[in-house]
Amino acid sequence: MRKPVVAVVGRPNVGKSTIFNRIIGDRLAIVEDKPGVTRDRIYSSAEWLNTEFNVIDTGGIDLGDEPFLKQMRQQAEIAIDEADVIIFMVNGREGITSADEEVSQILFRSKKPIVLAVNKIDNPERMNDVYEFYSLGFGEPIGISGSHGLGLGDLLDAVVKHFPEELGEDYDDSTIKFSLIGRPNVGKSSLVNSIVGKERVIVSDIAGTTRDAIDAKFTRDDQEYVIIDTAGMRKKGKVYETTEKYSVLRALKAIDRSDVVLVVLNAEEGIIEQDKKIAGYAHEAGRAVVIVVNKWDAIEKDDKTLREFEQKIRDHFLFLDYAPIVFVSALTKQRLHTLLPVIDQVAENHTMRVKTNVLNDVIMDAVMMNPTPTDKGRRLKINYVTQVAIKPPTFVLFVNDPELLHFSYKRFLENRIRDAFGFKGTPIRIVARSKS
Ligand code: GDP
Ligand code: GDP
Repeated sequence: MRKPVVAVVGRPNVGKSTIFNRIIGDRLAIVEDKPGVTRDRIYSSAEWLNTEFNVIDTGGIDLGDEPFLKQMRQQAEIAIDEADVIIFMVNGREGITSADEEVSQILFRSKKPIVLAVNKIDNPERMNDVYEFYSLGFGEPIGISGSHGLGLGDLLDAVVKHFPEELGEDYDDSTIKFSLIGRPNVGKSSLVNSIVGKERVIVSDIAGTTRDAIDAKFTRDDQEYVIIDTAGMRKKGKVYETTEKYSVLRALKAIDRSDVVLVVLNAEEGIIEQDKKIAGYAHEAGRAVVIVVNKWDAIEKDDKTLREFEQKIRDHFLFLDYAPIVFVSALTKQRLHTLLPVIDQVAENHTMRVKTNVLNDVIMDAVMMNPTPTDKGRRLKINYVTQVAIKPPTFVLFVNDPELLHFSYKRFLENRIRDAFGFKGTPIRIVARSKS
């Protein structure tokens, strides 16, 4: 089931990114060098009262040198296209401006549920400033303060109430859903065409899907596959579809709907920051990952080329050390037959469950080999381990004090689990809980 999507819109400086950061909480990016850089992150998972959703900060979608009214209009359109619920944000200190009215007009025309948030209500005396916003016609305005964290609960309660009950587009559990992610021109569409050939069925108008999500369904050797949000096959036409941040947003949304993400690189080009960011999101989202190097026909090769390329990828994608790398050519179809078996394999690992007793033996052996860390004279004690989830495989360690499980020891245990059970291609999560 896909997660509901919430978008925040409003004119500049009303506090959208402040609220976005509040909503996503302490979900620090694992791969970003500088956490907390505003506007770097425009899309994230979030949670309220055990309901998971994704949130978009449309203010962070930079639409170039367009005049600001035009940018705002486009951001509102993106929110309408991409979101299930829209938070329309205004500034309680400034009252209604013509720009607010402009955004209202656009939102009114959509059929999406709108929650009106009046920000910068930093103390209760300011609640009077909220009432004039009733006249915008979106029902009861909710007073909040992004900088003080006030009213956030009321806001999210209102948002969650509007989540659709049916989110459609649910494929059979045994169907492997994957997406191809990568910069323009790396060969995503060519790969899709070469893999699927003529047998694809386009699945687009499923109830509950966003307007222009296009999936391709096909069957090979009795296994069903769906390629999510097929690259290059979307209807083009809207101005913002060519902007970089928007295409990143689409990629992140496709990742959310996938089991397996193919990170496609072009053998002729290097790896850039953008590739890392998107791959990092797949990792954080807990998706299985395969790195696909396309256009392998186009480069001069000797007996070292493959190893060197592999090393370069490993150096750049340190956090994806579990991801297999496949070298292919969509053009000559060279090694293309290796791709689906790898996808099958990582999808299987993504859903693998291991036996609790074997798992405990593996961990106890690991502890014998490399004793648990101590901190201020206290030693980490692991009592019991169990796998609590798949997609990705998630393990809970019951310990004396979760604080004692340092990153490096966790990493060590992860490697022991990988050595013992495989898990090639899938991230795994290890969580420490104090035994009660
Ligand atoms: P955006 O352009 O809509 O994303 O706005 P920002 O989140 O970047 O915030 C714009 C400015 O308003 C920043 O200086 C914030 O610190 C400030 N700000 C955000 N929320 C509040 C709030 O609740 N109260 C006050 N007083 N200032 C706020
Ligand atoms: P996308 O933007 O990632 O979907 O990339 P396309 O599939 O549209 O391909 C971009 C260009 O690269 C096209 O001109 C393709 O013909 C070319 N191309 C795609 N795959 C290969 C390949 O394996 N080898 C070579 N030499 N060219 C390729």
